[in-house]
Amino acid sequence: MSGDEGKRLRDDLRAFAREREWERFHVPEQLAAALAIEAAELQEVLLWKSREQVDAFLETPEGRERIREEIADVYIYLVRLCDVCDVDLDAAAREKMTRNREKYPAREVASEAREGVFTKRDSG
Ligand SMILES: [Mg+2]
Repeated sequence: MSGDEGKRLRDDLRAFAREREWERFHVPEQLAAALAIEAAELQEVLLWKSREQVDAFLETPEGRERIREEIADVYIYLVRLCDVCDVDLDAAAREKMTRNREKYPAREVASEAREGVFTKRDSG
């Protein structure tokens, strides 16, 4: 991760694992699974709620705290996974956005979106 705050968080998470002797568990396959599980927990917070119920939930202190906590869990595992895999998250995301701009040309896709259509274009 780039940026001082990002590096501080990465280093703090690295130290957190080292101090607990969890480094042996923090391997890519385990961290990827933990990330997916936390993403599912994030979905669970919003599960079976209507669009309106989600909006109302997110305006409550409890709802804000629940979503904030699960987003933090996802982010923590993502940052930790990037550290273990030696991936610069910001650079990877910027490169992916460059490819996404080519894959989803704004004028073409916005025209479809106005008609309520979203077409996912090949995987990746
Ligand atoms: Mg969680």
